[in-house]
Amino acid sequence: MAQALEAVLDLSPDALLVVAADGTVAAANAPAGRLFGIPEDNLAGLDHRSLLANDFREDIRKLFRRLLAHPDQHPAPVQTYCLHRTGTEFPAELTASFLPGAGRQRSDAGQLLLSVRGTAHHNSAAPRREAMALLAATLESTADGILVVDSDWNIAGYNEKFLAMWGIPATLLEAPQGMTASLQHEVMPLVLAQLSDPRQFMAKLGELEADPAAESHDVLEFKDGRTIERYSRPHRSGDGIVGRIWSFQDVTERRQAQEQAHRAMADLAAQTEKLRGMAFRDPLTGLANRAVFNDALGEAVRSPRLKSVDVLLLDLDDFKEVNDVLGHQAGDDMLIEVARRLRGCAPTADVVARLGGDEFVVLLTACPNADEIATCMVRCLRVPLTAGGKVLRPSLSLGLASLTSEDQNASELLRRADIAMYAAKAAGKNRFLRFQPDMMSELMQRTAMESGLVRAAEHGEISIEFQPIVSYQRGQVVKVEALARWDSDGGRVPPSVFIPLAERTGLIGGIGMEVMGLAMRRIAGWLTGDPSRSLAVNVSGVQLQEHDFAEQVLRLAEASGVAPYQLVIEVTESVFFDADCSLVKQLSTLREAGARVALDDFGTGYSSLGRLQDLPVDTVKIDKSFVSMIRTGRERLPILSSMVNMAHSLGLTVTAEGIETVEQAQYLAALECDSMQGYLFSRPEPESRLTLALSHAEKVLRTLKEG
Ligand code: C2E
Ligand code: CA
Ligand code: CA
Repeated sequence: MAQALEAVLDLSPDALLVVAADGTVAAANAPAGRLFGIPEDNLAGLDHRSLLANDFREDIRKLFRRLLAHPDQHPAPVQTYCLHRTGTEFPAELTASFLPGAGRQRSDAGQLLLSVRGTAHHNSAAPRREAMALLAATLESTADGILVVDSDWNIAGYNEKFLAMWGIPATLLEAPQGMTASLQHEVMPLVLAQLSDPRQFMAKLGELEADPAAESHDVLEFKDGRTIERYSRPHRSGDGIVGRIWSFQDVTERRQAQEQAHRAMADLAAQTEKLRGMAFRDPLTGLANRAVFNDALGEAVRSPRLKSVDVLLLDLDDFKEVNDVLGHQAGDDMLIEVARRLRGCAPTADVVARLGGDEFVVLLTACPNADEIATCMVRCLRVPLTAGGKVLRPSLSLGLASLTSEDQNASELLRRADIAMYAAKAAGKNRFLRFQPDMMSELMQRTAMESGLVRAAEHGEISIEFQPIVSYQRGQVVKVEALARWDSDGGRVPPSVFIPLAERTGLIGGIGMEVMGLAMRRIAGWLTGDPSRSLAVNVSGVQLQEHDFAEQVLRLAEASGVAPYQLVIEVTESVFFDADCSLVKQLSTLREAGARVALDDFGTGYSSLGRLQDLPVDTVKIDKSFVSMIRTGRERLPILSSMVNMAHSLGLTVTAEGIETVEQAQYLAALECDSMQGYLFSRPEPESRLTLALSHAEKVLRTLKEG
C-alpha cells in the first residue's frame, strides 16, 4: 500500500515534500528529486530551508504560520525562488497543507505536505510577450507599412501604416478572424487592383512562396502614381522560418525628386554636349570655328608627309551694308547660305571654318587644285541669293597662301593668306589672289603711308581742290565741291586711298575739319558774291559720330564768314546704315541752321529708292556709274529717269556727277537734273585756278545750251 502510494506520488507533476515539525524533510517524491537535482532519498533529513534561495528561506515558515492561523482556508500559492543543487535559483510556486491525521494543535502541528511547482517555463514566456509588445510598438513607430504572414500566408501582424498605404479597411483584418485572414482571399484582390503591373507582383509572390528563405527588394508602381518599395525577408524563429515579414515604403516623393534630379542631370549633360559642340562649332553656320581651324592648321604644318597645305582666307565684300540696310536676320541668312556654298565648293576640305563676322577660312591639305577651288568659291558666291526678301549678289575677296618650305609656320601662312586677301580687296574685290612676295612690300608701303598721313595731318599737308557744279537751268556755276588732296613725298595719293586710311586710323576727324575750315576760308569771297551759291564738303560717317561735329562746323562757318545755308554736307548712304541718334542729331542741327545735306554716290551699294524718303537729305547725287551708262544719248535708261523723278517727287534736288560728255549733259538736262558736275565742265582745281575753272565751266554750259 505504502509502495503503491509512493508510485502514485511519483506520478504527480509537482514536487511533493513532507516537512517534519523540526523543519527537516521527512519524505519526497521523484519529481522533487528532479526539481532540486538531489536524489529523493538524499532529500530526506535535509533542512527544508536549504532548498530555498537566499532571502526566501522563511517562505515556508510563513506559509506554515498562515496555515496555523487559518486552518480552514486554503492559502493562496506563494511565489518563491528555490535553490537547485547546482546553486542556480529557480522560480517556483508553493502550496502547503497539513498532512491528515496529524494533530491540529499548534503544539502538535506535525508534518506539512509541501507541493513545489517550478515556474521557470512561465518566465520564458515573459520575454516573448515583451518581444511581442516591443514588436507591436516598433511596428507602429516605423514609417513603413509592415505585414507579417505565417508560413501558410495567413496574416499574423500588420501596422496602421500598412492599412493606410494599401487602403485596406481595418475591419477586414480585425480579430478574431482578422489575424488569420487569408492573404490570398481577403486582401489580395484589393492589393492587385491598385497596381500598375499586378502580374509582376504575383510573379514575385510565387517566387517567394517557392523559396521561403529568399529575401527580395522591388518597386511597385501604383495606378494612382505612387511608387512603393517592397522589401521582404523570412521571419525566423530559432532555426526555423515561421513566415515572412514584408515592409512597404512610400518612395513617391523620393522617386520624384530622383527623377527630377535625373532629368536635371540629363538636361545638364545635353547642355554640356551643346556647349562642347559650340566650343568647336560656329553656332550660326554650323561650320568649324577658329579653334578647330587653328588646331588643324598647326597639325597640317607640322606633318611633313603632306604634299601641300593651302589656306584660303576670305571675306565677304560690303557685308556690313547688308547687315545695316536689310537687318541682322538677312545678314545671318546670307552667312548661312555663304557657308553652304563654301562647303559645296570644297567638299574635300580639311576644315571650312567661320572665323567671325563675315570672315571664313578653308584648309586644304594634299589638294592638287586649290586655285580651282578658290575660283569656284568666288564664282559660286556671285550667284544671287534671297535674304531679307531681297535678291542679293554677294561677293568675296579671297587670299590664297600655300605652304612652301618646311620652316614656314602656321601663323606665317595665315598672315600671308591675309595679305593676299587684303590685296584682293584693294584690287577691286570679288576676286581671289594668290599670295606673292611683292604683296608684302605693298603692305609695308601701306604701313609707311599710314605714318606719312599722320605727319601730313599734323603738318597741314592736306590741301584742297574745288570742282564747279553747274545749273543747266540757270546757266551758271551754283556750287563748288571741295575735295581733299594729299601730296606725299612719293607723289599724289588719291583720296580713295587715303580717306579710308584716315577713317581707319582715326585721323579723319582732324583732316575733315581741316578741309572744312580751309574750304570755307578760300571760298568765302565767292560765296558772298551771290547768296544762291554754295559750298559742298564731303563728310565721313566717322566724323558724324563726334557729338560736337555740327557745333564745330557752325563755328568754322561763322569764323570764315560763310552763311550756314550756303553749306552742303555730302554724306554717303552708308552713314545711315547704323545711324545712332548722335548722327541724326548732328545732321538735324546743321539742317536747322540752314545747311543742306546731299546723298553722295546715290545708286551704288545696297541703297534703294524706297529708302530715300526716310533719310534727312535735301539732295541726291547720282553716281557717275549711272551717268557713264549714257553713251549715245539716245538710249532709254529708265533707271536714271526714275531716280530723278523719285527724288523730285520727294522734294529733293538732283545732281548728276561724273559728266564727261556733251551727250551725257544733254541727256541729264532733258531729265531736268537740277545740277551737273564733271570733267566736261571742269576738273577739280586748286584755289589758284578756281576763277579759270568757274569761267570755263560756264562757257561749256553756254555752248551746251546753244547747241
Ligand atoms: P566724291 O565725293 O564722289 O567726289 C567726286 C569724285 O569724282 C572726285 O574724285 C572727283 O575728282 C571725281 N570726278 C569729278 N568729275 C569726274 C568725272 O567727270 N569723271 C570722273 N571719272 N571722275 C570725276 P576724288 O577727288 O578722287 O575723290 C574721291 C572720293 O574721295 C570722293 O568721291 C569722296 O568720297 C572722297 N573725298 C574726297 N575729299 C574728301 C574729304 O574731304 N572728306 C571726305 N570724307 N571724303 C573725301
Ligand atoms: Ca562728294
Ligand atoms: Ca560721288
